[in-house]
Amino acid sequence: MDGKITSTDEIAELIVYLGRAARGGDTGSDLTAAQWTALRFFARANHVSRTPSAFASFHATTRGTASQTIKFLMLKGYLARHEAADDRRSVRFDLTDSGQEVMRDDPLRALSEAIDRLEGGLRAALRQALPSLAGELANIRDTVAFGTCGDCRHFSSGGTTSYCAYVAAELAPADLGRLCINFAASGGMKLALPGLPKEIS
Ligand code: SF4
Repeated sequence: MDGKITSTDEIAELIVYLGRAARGGDTGSDLTAAQWTALRFFARANHVSRTPSAFASFHATTRGTASQTIKFLMLKGYLARHEAADDRRSVRFDLTDSGQEVMRDDPLRALSEAIDRLEGGLRAALRQALPSLAGELANIRDTVAFGTCGDCRHFSSGGTTSYCAYVAAELAPADLGRLCINFAASGGMKLALPGLPKEIS
């Protein structure tokens, strides 16, 4: 290490800064950053991924810590537990009406608004780069990468139907765009961030 700051270091710092800055907008709620992350996860994940272990993988935490967060959100009335009719061990958690209501004050909205204000090409480049980045980080850490159908190698579509090879079944439109624990990044995604210098100094 020669102390030189490269563009990759700066990008990594900016990503961390953005995460922190977005959370800083939360002044009125009684939820911690981890509890907001959990609520967001259960609002965005598909039905097979709305489990404590999937949330623990997503949040890079232990199953015990994830369960405590979920328990708190259930006590607040924001999450409800559902068991499969034929298998009590198969549980998933869904947002209640109160949970949906509280999500309207999600502090991350300011970041979404800022992304919306970006020029279209830059927004598209970010959309392309971030799933690839999440996949690479998961590879380096040897952990699970989360993503959505459009970026998944198990996904195919033809005409009006969408198919998941992992579960060997057609996907309902409501499943598309949801976080999935069975996601596998498709290869060949290119990073194309215009205007970024290779090295800052
Ligand atoms: S296509 Fe991939 S992301 Fe979509 S449901 Fe199947 S495994 Fe999950």
